[in-house]
Amino acid sequence: MKAVIERALDTASAGGAAYADARIVQKTSEFLMVKDGQVAAVNLSSDYGLGVRALVNGSWGFASASRVNTESADEVAGRALRIARASARVQEKPVVLAAQDPSVGEYITPYESDPFDVSTEDKLGLLLRVNDLLRREKGVKVAECAMEIYKTEKAFGSTEGAYVTQTIVESGAGMESTATSDDDIQKRSFPNSFGRQVVTGGYEEIEKLELESNAPRIASESAALLSAAECPATTTTVILDATQVALQVHESCGHPTELDRALGYEASFAGTSFLTPDMLGAFRYGSDAVNIVADATTPLGAGTFGYDDEGVPAQRNYLVKDGIFVGYLTSRETASELDQRSSGAMRAESWNHIPLIRMTNINLMPGETSPEDLIASTDDGIYMELNKSWSIDDLRLNFQFGTEIAWQIEGGRLTNMYKNPTYTGITPQFWQSCDAVANNWRMWGTPNCGKGEPVQGMHVGHGAAAARFRDVRVGVRG
Ligand SMILES: [Zn+2]
Repeated sequence: MKAVIERALDTASAGGAAYADARIVQKTSEFLMVKDGQVAAVNLSSDYGLGVRALVNGSWGFASASRVNTESADEVAGRALRIARASARVQEKPVVLAAQDPSVGEYITPYESDPFDVSTEDKLGLLLRVNDLLRREKGVKVAECAMEIYKTEKAFGSTEGAYVTQTIVESGAGMESTATSDDDIQKRSFPNSFGRQVVTGGYEEIEKLELESNAPRIASESAALLSAAECPATTTTVILDATQVALQVHESCGHPTELDRALGYEASFAGTSFLTPDMLGAFRYGSDAVNIVADATTPLGAGTFGYDDEGVPAQRNYLVKDGIFVGYLTSRETASELDQRSSGAMRAESWNHIPLIRMTNINLMPGETSPEDLIASTDDGIYMELNKSWSIDDLRLNFQFGTEIAWQIEGGRLTNMYKNPTYTGITPQFWQSCDAVANNWRMWGTPNCGKGEPVQGMHVGHGAAAARFRDVRVGVRG
């Protein structure tokens, strides 16, 4: 691999590139699904290719090929050079890369059990057992269980002398139980929305999910929701479970702190951001209880790696510190506009995509209260669990989220179950109303974050715990 990367870089340099980098990526994935007692999918897929990025006269060119050898290195580098030259003719502002010490090294996800070494029969056996437990509940009409595992082997080199290799192993699984009556459909998922939860780690992480012991509860809650009361429309105290906090962080902090978005480069497709650079270091984003970091080093994080796709080492940086907006997710190109170094957030979906600024693990740091004490110290409110729907404007300011289930909080205790819970807010006001974050912190993985044109799917992580918010509008419909 190193010889092919060096050949591509030499060809790019000889052809006039001021900077070039080359990536070889081999990605293997397995997806298994059991639906209503039947095996619905057993997909094993793999792809392998080379991508080259070249900077000529201040403009980028990118090209890729699924053949990985010295001839394709020449061909791909040549195409990247031609695209860069063509782009330079319509350039608005030349690209300037922030300085970076060239990385040399290797990173391998820590894991105990290689998920590709576990037999398909054993994996399906687990899913079939969980599926059977869901289907024992009367009222459950659709029972789905799925597992997804990934191994990504990459090599990256640059004309500045960087050369790094990485092996990222990911494992995830989950379930969905759908109950129906004559006039209603209700769903419960576990452990995360859409039955999808992914971490970097081995098969041991799937075993730790305790899918079997949770299946009966998930099935019975989906059925019980059919006869639950609608979430009332009011303004009250809301406690969100850790998974919904993770989604809230994703949409209202992760996306708006992407610097390409804040600078307007992503405006045409994914939107802009209310967090403009003039607010950096001064704007009150949340209460003192709100501390959010971008941390590509968090164990188990779906956004954990050794180096990003510009060869920048994984980092931990504050985005929000004691409630104040203090940092962005950046690339070398965007960081230079703020006279900063890259925060190491450039990632590409695969070898045939150009890297973009992507969330790593965007973690809300935990507080000291247990979630039980958070509820016990709340006289009147609503506890909401697990994301079902989301809507947020282009600036990432006005939002409405729905969860699968909620319970009324009365006198510090959970009482009536509510269906179709929703809450709305405006990002900074909402986070400023956060008066406590609980201590039940763990990593949640979102395997379906989309960005870019053509869209690139990315796995991102969120460390999150339950959190309490005051004076929130709930029960808004439509
Ligand atoms: Zn996203």
